[in-house]
Amino acid sequence: MNHEQSRSLYDRALSVIPGGVNSSVRAIRPYPFFVSRGDGGHVIDADGNRYLDFVMGYGPLLLGHSLPEEVTAAIQQRASEGPMYGAPTEVEVELAEFVARHVPSVEMIRFVNSGTEATVSAVRLARGYTGREKVVIMQGGYHGAQESTLVDGEGDHTSPSSAGIPQSFAEHTIVVPFNDEDAIHDVFDAHGDEIAAVLTEPILGNYGIVHPVDGYLETLREVTDDHGSLLIFDEVITGFRVGGLQCAQGKFGVTPDVTTFGKVVGGGFPVGAIGGRAEIIEQFSPAGDVFQAGTFSGHPVTMAAGLETLRYAAANDVYDHVNTLGEQLRSGLTDILADEAPEYTVVGTDSMFKVIFTREGPTSSGEQCESGCRQRADCSRSDSCPKTGADVKRAETERWERLFWPAMKEQGIFLTPNQFESQFVCDAHTQEDVERTLEAYKQAL
Ligand SMILES: *Cc1c(COP(=O)(O)O)cnc(C)c1O
Repeated sequence: MNHEQSRSLYDRALSVIPGGVNSSVRAIRPYPFFVSRGDGGHVIDADGNRYLDFVMGYGPLLLGHSLPEEVTAAIQQRASEGPMYGAPTEVEVELAEFVARHVPSVEMIRFVNSGTEATVSAVRLARGYTGREKVVIMQGGYHGAQESTLVDGEGDHTSPSSAGIPQSFAEHTIVVPFNDEDAIHDVFDAHGDEIAAVLTEPILGNYGIVHPVDGYLETLREVTDDHGSLLIFDEVITGFRVGGLQCAQGKFGVTPDVTTFGKVVGGGFPVGAIGGRAEIIEQFSPAGDVFQAGTFSGHPVTMAAGLETLRYAAANDVYDHVNTLGEQLRSGLTDILADEAPEYTVVGTDSMFKVIFTREGPTSSGEQCESGCRQRADCSRSDSCPKTGADVKRAETERWERLFWPAMKEQGIFLTPNQFESQFVCDAHTQEDVERTLEAYKQAL
């Protein structure tokens, strides 16, 4: 593969953009390929190389790169009628109604411009609503580039995970390991009446893909109810991806007080949203006194793209298609690992998948989950499969990044470039794409 154009573009980018990229995860070593365009389930780079794409914009592109006629038409019409107005439009009401109709926790919703903005606002909302300051987050959870959650540690021994965040901010954040029921009971025993909210992804989707153990989300629901704290599900990745239109909360049957959205709900354009019970969401200004505002919020082009994407998914068998291919990938990978690398773990659900390069595991496959780790207690791998973000971090991350990812790229398969980020199937992917991908994994592992 020739990468001369990408190399020279990265050279220019390094002079004017820090690290040459506008979001850190894109800074693949030694340099990323620059994309010139998308085509269905593929991307084509600046040198004309074609890749089967499982990054899908890090999640937003449920339908892939070639949008259906009705989605494209809606986007183009909104753009041609003047991009935005600073006054409300019908399309934002329609998207709000659509989300409220399908997602169990949502009676009202406020749209913003990114997942980060959504989680910032959700944390402020929870603090405003409860009059409390502490939030509980999960080790290895990700809620965007925001002050309250860029925090490492254990329990209340926390510190900022980024330069530029005061230690005093981190003091309001408590960090617990995902899937650890004792840990959550301990922090509520110690701080229950100070905790505004527990904020978690229902499935960790940015640190491996870690499925909740049976009963864990229910425990979070109970403990927050018992202490008058809010339960916030960050469904920026899982929203309209896992569980279809009802999202992961519908699939798991656990209804949070507040849900944050992003990614898919904007149909490929910048978006975030905070939804929940009316009584809580109405605390946002101007209805309530938790300040929240944005010049571009509810942008008509984004709203139209999101609405038409979700309508298309509702009217066609999009979720069946992507989930079936996801299942085929995960079960195919499980079979391949049995021969090539039995210690590794296949994770994911619905249209999300990844292979975690776990260091230890049973040498024979036994009675394991067949299409992605479900944290089943009776699984032969249950002692070794990753249960927290820290478990994923202990995997062979260097081998993944330096040997495996480049080997897949050379075969024309674009995976998320590190061990941690999920990969996504889109509606444009096909059975042949799955077969080709499995063959490439077999070669590269
Ligand atoms: C991507 C993501 C975010 C951040 O969203 P941005 O749009 O990148 O700001 C927050 N939470 C989760 C769970 C995410 O996956």
